[in-house]
Amino acid sequence: MENFICVQCGTQFSETIEPPASCPICEDERQFVRHAGQKWTTLKWLATDHHNRLEEEAPRLLGIGTEPEFAIGQRALLVQSPGGNLLWDCISLLDDETIAEVNARGGIRAIAISHPHFYSSMIEWAEHFDAQIFLHAADREWVMRPADAGSRIQFWEGTTLSLWDDLTLINCGGHFEGGTVLHWPAASRDRGSKGALLTGDIITVVQDRRYVSFMRSYPNLIPLGPAAIHRILERIEPFTFEQIYGGWWQANVLSDAKAAVARSAHRYLRAIGQT
Ligand SMILES: [Zn+2]
Ligand SMILES: [Zn+2]
Repeated sequence: MENFICVQCGTQFSETIEPPASCPICEDERQFVRHAGQKWTTLKWLATDHHNRLEEEAPRLLGIGTEPEFAIGQRALLVQSPGGNLLWDCISLLDDETIAEVNARGGIRAIAISHPHFYSSMIEWAEHFDAQIFLHAADREWVMRPADAGSRIQFWEGTTLSLWDDLTLINCGGHFEGGTVLHWPAASRDRGSKGALLTGDIITVVQDRRYVSFMRSYPNLIPLGPAAIHRILERIEPFTFEQIYGGWWQANVLSDAKAAVARSAHRYLRAIGQT
């Protein structure tokens, strides 16, 4: 029996003898099946020719991504906080070196994930670090390893969930109904401490890093309508933040990020003829 991992999206599945017939996450209109067809790997195989790169993205914010690039090429972020570390988003590869590095920084108290494209090997990570996982209940159907998740996963409902040290999960919807961002008010870089939003691609940092964007599907270029954009703006409005850390290396807005979201939403709404 193996917990197969989809090569295209990096999601690990429940144990089976043979690889699953298909990957529902890749067959969804927001993703796609590899041009060469569905392909599977396992954690053990993945570890033979991949490793994780660890890099500080900001003080007390460790990026963890896989090299060479795997699945959607994301990096997870370890938020180091006095009340315990939170792993924001997740990746497929977990190896001994990564476990040692994370333990040297105090381990992981809990894992919170923006949306199903980052569920990856979350159960492996949760088991190794004895961590709770927080997922928004609206995306429950996309958990591909539900049986052995047991009580590891706490499905939360509503618009916000307060964790410890004023860390707050905010349901923004959009790309996925359960789409979540994390507010980390203690984030600081250079002078001052004004907070950060960790967003995956619920609010995605684009190439011009003075801007972000919002899509139902990024690979298939399916936009969101005005109601979804307004809901995202409303949900983040009560929170103060100066930076946004997106789901990929360098995908960060490092100053004036709340204004960047506002001007990006305005530009988006204008582009779809709504202002
Ligand atoms: Zn997949
Ligand atoms: Zn996504």
